[in-house]
Parts: sequence; structure tokens; C-alpha cells
Amino acid sequence: MSQTILYGGTFNPIHKGHLEICVYAREAVDADRVLLMPAALPPHKFAGWLAPDQDRLAMCRLAVRDLELLQVSEYEIGRGGHSYTVDTLRELTVREPEERFWLLIGTDMFLTFTQWKDWQKIGRMASLLVASREEGDREQLRACQKALEKEGVASRLLENAPLPMSSTEIRRELRETGTSNKVLPQVLDYLQERGLYLHDPEELPYLREYIRPLMTDYRYRHSLGVEKQAACMAEQYGADVHKASLAGILHDVCKDMPKGPLLQNILESGIINGIDFAACPQLIHSYAGALYLQSHMEIHDPEVIDAVRYHTTARAGMSLLETIIYLADLTSEDREYGDVGVMRRLCQEDLRGAMIHTLTHTVGELSKRGKPICPDTREACKEYGVEIPTVNGGAI
Ligand code: ATP
Repeated sequence: MSQTILYGGTFNPIHKGHLEICVYAREAVDADRVLLMPAALPPHKFAGWLAPDQDRLAMCRLAVRDLELLQVSEYEIGRGGHSYTVDTLRELTVREPEERFWLLIGTDMFLTFTQWKDWQKIGRMASLLVASREEGDREQLRACQKALEKEGVASRLLENAPLPMSSTEIRRELRETGTSNKVLPQVLDYLQERGLYLHDPEELPYLREYIRPLMTDYRYRHSLGVEKQAACMAEQYGADVHKASLAGILHDVCKDMPKGPLLQNILESGIINGIDFAACPQLIHSYAGALYLQSHMEIHDPEVIDAVRYHTTARAGMSLLETIIYLADLTSEDREYGDVGVMRRLCQEDLRGAMIHTLTHTVGELSKRGKPICPDTREACKEYGVEIPTVNGGAI
């Protein structure tokens, strides 16, 4: 019978400890392959600063480049949302019913295994293969093994010499020194070139580089334009210029990402505000962007998060920062529509007038095209006294 070891993790970044136990485990059970599975969103812990999915995938691929029988799978990243091992194993066992699966995990994950979603089901689909992470953790591991055995979950403890290192510690080291010998040289080259983990996450020049590969050239130019316009408006109206720049650069961070996984994140978050995203796919990126800032970038400032979330729809009771980002998005230097000059002037002279002008235009266009108008935009119209034409296709 052919055997696969599934090895899931955040791999943020992948380090020598990960690779060493892959190789060790493969030899220990004589497996035919080890499948490295970078998670989209890790369900078991707060990820901290999470490098973009494509970067974590690229680093995993570089890391296994010269290692036989190690493969990297995009499955969980492609699925999006929280990556539950039970879903992944179900998919794998359906696809390959004849395969024997092992699930490779480290001490920390083994000791908290009964907190995993559907852990008994996982135990029915795979045997656990447990790598020691620290000297002296054996006794605890054996006790845990016995307890799980009683619940029908089989496991095997590897006799590996622990390599005590973690991605958290490596991210700290990279931030402080710019380098680390705990990742492979090709991974180090990659993350240094991309500037991953090396900067204060709110440093503006770094953020400009960060977003570049996540979007098209057009969107990138637009994001820089919105940053500039938002900073200008913040200066003029006495808002926080740094927050405006931050929200400006990042407002479209998810715009060019595949919509399926983004929608999955939104549905799991439960923040839907009465929107039917299937009917309004153009709204997905702003909601997903607000979540992305929190899940990947350690940005939790509610003002910045809301400015990104409502930059497409607007809403009633918008803060000054939200208003600035909403309007800056429409008046950045790359915008070329007919009365953009009027809008730019209004933005300089009369924010309320600019909001009324924009909302009138937006709901007019949506109505003309028979498109639904979401509840937040309706509320904003009510607040600004903008009438919604009755030909509209209905609320969503
Ligand atoms: P972080 O510090 O960001 O939490 P991590 O170093 O624990 O990350 P993950 O990608 O979360 O790395 O780990 C994936 C899997 O690898 C987990 O099962 C974890 O227990 C295991 N693991 C991580 N580092 C080691 C190590 N040095 N030795 C053995 N197992 C490890």
C-alpha cells in the first residue's frame, strides 16, 4: 500500500526544523511522499504577521527543491478560509481511497489535538506521526498518546532529535537582524528580496513593495494615487495622515485576488451586512480587504479597517477617515472620467457636497443598469438626502 504523509502548517516562513522532520518522518515510515500543505488561515492559533499566500507557497517550493519525495500542495490556499485538516483529509481520502495517510504534527499541535475540529474523524482517516520539538517532552507525549489511543486515535512518536526553532522566533530574528541561519539560503534570498518579515508592518515604502506583486500594474498605480490623494485630504481636513496613507495604499489589496477564497473568508467571518455577494461580486474585495489587514498584516486599527471595508459602498455615519478614503478612491490622479475635475474641486472645498455628488451619481448608474443597491449605500443616501431612483432592481 502506498503511503502519504500530510504535513500542514502556516510555514511563515518554512524553516529547517520543518524540513528536518519531513525527511526524518518519511524515512521512519518509509512513506512514498510527504505533502506539504501551507494553510490559508490557520484555525488553531493567531498567525501574527502572515506573508501573502503566494510568497509562503513560493518559499515552500524553494525549500523542497532539492529534497526527494517532498511535494507542495496549493489545495488549502486555493480553498481559502480557515484550513481545517478534517476537510483536507476528506478530500484526499476521496481522491485516493487506496492510499494510507499519516498526519505529521509537532508536540504543540499533538498536545492540543482534541481542540481540533472533528479530531476523532481525523483519527479515522489518518494516523498521527508526532515529532518532538523540545528535549524532555517525551513523557508528556506518551501520556497524550495513551489518552488518544483510548479515543481510537492511533499515533506514532518519532525518535527525532528535536530542533528547537519556530517561525515566530525566526520572524523576530529577521526583523531585528535582517537574516537567519534557521531558514535555507534560497528561502532567505527570497524573503530578503521581497522584504518579508524585515520591516515594521506599517512602514509605507515597505507596504508599497508588499502590494506590488498582489495586483496588476494598473491597480498598483491606482493604489499609490489613492495613498497620495488620501494623505493630501487628511492634511487639509485634520485627519491622521499616516492612517489615511495606510488605508489608501491598502484599500484594494484584495481586488485582484481570486474571488472564491476571498468570499470563503467573508462567509466564515460572519460580517456580511445584508449583502448578497454573489449578486454584487464587486463588493467582495473591500470586505475581504478589511479581513486581510487583520489576518495577514497585524493591522487592527478599527478606523483603518472600516475605511477599507466601506470604501466601495459608503455607509451612514462614516468617520472622517472613511469619507476621505471613499472620495480619494474616486479622485486619485489616475482617474479620468468626465467630471473628475468637479469632484476634485469638491473634495478640496466641500466634503459633504462631494459625498452627495458621488452618491447621486453612483445610485443613478446602478439604477439605470438595473443593479441592486446594497443596504449600506441606501443608508448613506438617506443620511445625505440623496434620492434613490425607483427604477432600481431592488435592495440586496
Ligand atoms: P509559528 O511559530 O508561526 O507558530 P511554527 O514554527 O510552529 O510556526 P508551523 O508552520 O505552524 O510552524 O508548524 C507546522 C507544523 O510543524 C506543526 O505541526 C508544528 O508543530 C510543527 N513544527 C514546527 N516547528 C517544528 C520543529 N522545530 N520541530 C518539530 N516540529 C515542528
